[in-house]
Formats: sequence, structure tokens, C-alpha cells
Amino acid sequence: MAKRAGFCFGVKRAIDITFDIAEKDKEGVFTLGPIIHNPQVIGRLKKEGILPLDVGDIDDSKVRALIIRTHGIPCDLYDNISSRGFRVIDATCPFVKKAQEYARLLAENGYQVIILGEKEHPEVKGLVSYAGSDAIVVDGDVPLKLKGLKSKVGIVVQTTQPVDALKRLLSTVIEKVKEVKVYNTICSSTALRLKETQQMCGRVDVMVVVGGKNSANTTQLANLCASLNVRTYHIETADGLDDSWFEGAGRVGITAGASTPDWIIRDVEKRIQDIGGKSPNGK
Ligand code: SF4
Repeated sequence: MAKRAGFCFGVKRAIDITFDIAEKDKEGVFTLGPIIHNPQVIGRLKKEGILPLDVGDIDDSKVRALIIRTHGIPCDLYDNISSRGFRVIDATCPFVKKAQEYARLLAENGYQVIILGEKEHPEVKGLVSYAGSDAIVVDGDVPLKLKGLKSKVGIVVQTTQPVDALKRLLSTVIEKVKEVKVYNTICSSTALRLKETQQMCGRVDVMVVVGGKNSANTTQLANLCASLNVRTYHIETADGLDDSWFEGAGRVGITAGASTPDWIIRDVEKRIQDIGGKSPNGK
């Protein structure tokens, strides 16, 4: 079992905030979009009466409180929902908040802001809104053709980007401008999880990766394992397991994405042990 399997700090905080509200006063409480990319957690919250809402579906007469998820939201949307009479509960990850703050600071101090990240990702859309009108988004995978940059450039990074992408961007930018200010806003959680998973792959015959099929970071883990030629299976819950996957396997590794709850991971572990394994400590 990977030590870092499951919720990261920011997701745990957001889930704790949400379930805490569910216990106390859930009447008219909604999340702005699914609070995390995990269908089972969303299903549990629905049972508790807390439903995800799209921006366009907010009915002011029904909403008493709206929870913002870890990725954060654009500042104009924040201002809009804050002025409509219902409570706004901000569960944006503090690390994402920090990146938003740096983007705003750079823009205020006359830097053209470059955001390294995926243009369509909600976290990046939020960052763009803080970064001034001449901000640009650069995807780490796309060859960099940066033209017409201002003489002062500031860089902030989507928290889940790999550090190599930042190095590539920086080496291109320093050849083009006089002044570069970099805020390394990459969150170490993702990198450490990937590193640990990579190390596990060298010691096991089968890797089971647990998490939502719609979770980008879980899919990233599964792709990493598969690229290392380990038999890899990506499942959402223990019901997705198949006994035949473990035929001839001596050791099985389990890891999970940042949005996978502990109860699902433990269930998967138990089922794999039932299928034929035993954990190294004999339990
Ligand atoms: S991966 Fe890092 S930045 Fe993203 S929610 Fe988790 S702790 Fe926050």
C-alpha cells in the first residue's frame, strides 16, 4: 500500500468542511460543481442532501450556502456569488489561494503573467482571472512559441504541473525578456505520490490504481504504472476487481489518487487480500 494513497491535504480539508456542514445544517447547501472527482463521494454527499450545482443553475431562492471546491473559481464569479445574499463557504485549497494571490501581485506590479498549466482546467481559469488582461496560459506539453512578451514577465504554475515543465518554460523565457519573476506554486503532493508509485512499480507484479475514472491525477498514476510495464488496473471501487488479474502474481501494489477516500482504498486492500494475498505484516 502506497503511504501517499488517497486524499491530499487540500482535498481532505474540502471534504471535512463539506461533511461537517452535512452533519449540522445542510438545508439549501450546494457545492459549486462536484466537490471532487470521485463518483462515490459525490454519491454519499447526495444521500446527505448536498448536491453539486452548475453556475447557470443557481437559484437564489433555494440556495442558502454554496461551497467552493479545491480548484478555486475566477474572482469575478466569486464577487458575483458573494453579493447574492447566500453564504459562500470557500474550500479552495490554501496552496491554490496562494497561487491566485501571486498572480494578482504580479499583475499589480506590472508583470505580464504567464500561467503554466492546462487552459481548460478550472484551477487555471481561476488563476487567469487574477493575472491581468495580458496574461497568457502555456501548456507544459506544447512546444513553446512565445512571442511579443513584455520586458517584465512573472510566472505562476498550476499546482499539479511537473517541475520539468517549469524548467522548460523558464529556459525559454529567460532568453526573451529582461526580468523574470517566478513563483513556484507546484504542490509537492502530486510529485511525491508519482515518485512513490514509480518506486513501487519496481517491486510488484501487479499495480492496482484506485480512483475516479474522471480523476486526472488518478489516470496520471495509472498511465505512469502502465508505462513502466507493470500489469496495471485502474478501478473505482473493489467491485471492479477481477480474480484473474492476480494469477501468478507474488506481490501486488496499491495506490490511489488524491480524490480517493480511505474507505474505498481499505475495501480494495481487503478484497485483494481475500483473493489470495496477505499483507507483509501478516494482517
Ligand atoms: S494536490 Fe496540492 S494543491 Fe491540489 S488540492 Fe491537493 S494539496 Fe491542494
